[in-house]
Amino acid sequence: MSATLYNDVTVKQQLIADQAGKCCYCEAYLLHVGYGDVEHYRPKNGFRQAPGAKLEKPGYYWLAYDWTNLLFTCKRCNVGHKRSYFPLANQATGRAHSHHDPLARERPLLLHPVQDDPAGHIWFRRAVAVAVRKSPRGRATIAFCGLNRKKTLEQRRTFLAHMESHDLMAEKNIATMSAIDLVREIAKCGSAQALVRRILQAKAICEQAALDSAEYAGMVRANFPHLSAI
Ligand SMILES: [Zn+2]
Repeated sequence: MSATLYNDVTVKQQLIADQAGKCCYCEAYLLHVGYGDVEHYRPKNGFRQAPGAKLEKPGYYWLAYDWTNLLFTCKRCNVGHKRSYFPLANQATGRAHSHHDPLARERPLLLHPVQDDPAGHIWFRRAVAVAVRKSPRGRATIAFCGLNRKKTLEQRRTFLAHMESHDLMAEKNIATMSAIDLVREIAKCGSAQALVRRILQAKAICEQAALDSAEYAGMVRANFPHLSAI
């Protein structure tokens, strides 16, 4: 990749395609409200180990154009939270300072959304992101990327409420429903055909909701485990 290309439109378009238009950290679809950022997992200009720590330079300048270091994010995750943080569990002994130092020696506290399996470290209690078995990497990623920030929590709560209603509808089976329930459901939808349409629509939504490409798929998988198996 040539030296000015990480912000090149084709690079960004490829990242957007690879990540299905989702922020790699908060899993929100963002293209309808913003352009999104190309973010460096390992910061290129300088890094901080912790809040209040000084910005240490140089950063990971040799990875500025490395494909595996580039991610598509929303501005809130990138500029508002992660910024130049790149904490290591072994900061004193493991930090790479040039291309001569092996990255494999580093033990990053922030999860790499593609190379790591976030579900092994971050789970959801309802809409709230929680660390799996107190995983230090899960905790750090939730904290440094602001995954439980107020607006994101509100968004996930609303999304979850919609998903619960779709899931309830998708579970309905006209063939086994009692006559009283059937009459009530038909009345709610306006007609028997409309009820069938709503059930089919809900099934289709649920089938898509736990796919990697789906918005808030991590939260959906945690709250609707039966959808992960579809
Ligand atoms: Zn985000």
